[in-house]
Amino acid sequence: MRVPWQALPDGLPQTRLLDSVAEFTVHRDIDALDHSLVLSLAELVEATSVALCKRTDETDNALEMIALCVPDEHNKLTVEAICMPVVESYSAELDMVISELEPRSIDSGDGLYTLIVPVQREQRAIGALVIQAERKLDGLVALVEGFARIYANYTALLNESERDKLTGLFNRRTFEQRLQRLLKRQRMQRARAAAEAAAGGERRVDGEVGRVWLAILDIDHFKRINDNFGHVYGDEVILLLAQMMRSSFRQTDVLFRFGGEEFVVLLGSLDEATARAALQRFRERVATHVFPQVGHVTVSIGYANIGESDYPEIVLDRADKALYFAKQNGRNCLHGYEALAATGALAPTSAGSIDLF
Ligand code: GH3
Ligand code: MG
Ligand code: MG
Repeated sequence: MRVPWQALPDGLPQTRLLDSVAEFTVHRDIDALDHSLVLSLAELVEATSVALCKRTDETDNALEMIALCVPDEHNKLTVEAICMPVVESYSAELDMVISELEPRSIDSGDGLYTLIVPVQREQRAIGALVIQAERKLDGLVALVEGFARIYANYTALLNESERDKLTGLFNRRTFEQRLQRLLKRQRMQRARAAAEAAAGGERRVDGEVGRVWLAILDIDHFKRINDNFGHVYGDEVILLLAQMMRSSFRQTDVLFRFGGEEFVVLLGSLDEATARAALQRFRERVATHVFPQVGHVTVSIGYANIGESDYPEIVLDRADKALYFAKQNGRNCLHGYEALAATGALAPTSAGSIDLF
């Protein structure tokens, strides 16, 4: 399984290769690692471009280009962190690489050569590296596969540290980073939609499109569940609820276990009515479910809108206020901060009152 040294392209010193690997594994967060991987590879193999494509979610088949390294106008290699559809010219080949788990070389006939190598974990592709150059790349397959393996191992470790052990949902530590990623994806989708609308001569994109909602969900009277049935059943309820969250919300929504029996959901690309309906549906689903031994369990939900320029702590506090209102008003219900604030039911949040982190 080792990368054979003789597979190194002519003239590439082994120390440079080691330097490259050491360089890109310095990082402790996945975005920085992605960035560094494409840059290291582009430098090492003198490519015209190196792209890292990944599945949008572990259970989703759709691929997205995440990081792209290309030379700028001064011929200096630069990395764009992006979330965009895969380039059409090789998307069919990319799908094949992903399903067959075999690298592929493409000679487009115009002097541009493409090499696509799967990034896999446990016999399943989590993404692919796409390298383009103005020369044949066949001799680089083993080298790029080696990088892909190191990257896959390393991201597995990083992923573990981002997840809650009991439920497998994201933990609180990764909240800010995931939120920024979602906001960025929304921004890019909005920009693309606006560009398409402009090209088609249509009216501008609705301001409601691509809004993000932050909801906090808290199990009602959870202490009673622990007291009546014991912690093991309490934990089981938490686990089952997390599974219901996974199957209820969309794959692009981001789910966290924030602590104890408290969860956070980031819902993207929705107007308020749709976000509210998704949360309401989940609340009802929980309320009608019969949990083994424990029976009926309910959740209270508070949510708030979150925009590009909002401080996450302030929005968390707003959603928490709406949640508190739900707890004070019968539990097993859903409230939005903006609507409550508009009716004067809540005091507005000021930056000085935050004590969340
Ligand atoms: P409310 O409806 O107001 O939310 O009431 P509650 O009883 O759910 O709220 P409270 O915050 O008073 O209690 C939460 C309890 O959750 C306290 C703690 O013992 C329990 N808890 C926190 N984390 C865990 C966990 O990981 N497993 C289990 N089994 N219990 C937990
Ligand atoms: Mg509770
Ligand atoms: Mg709680």
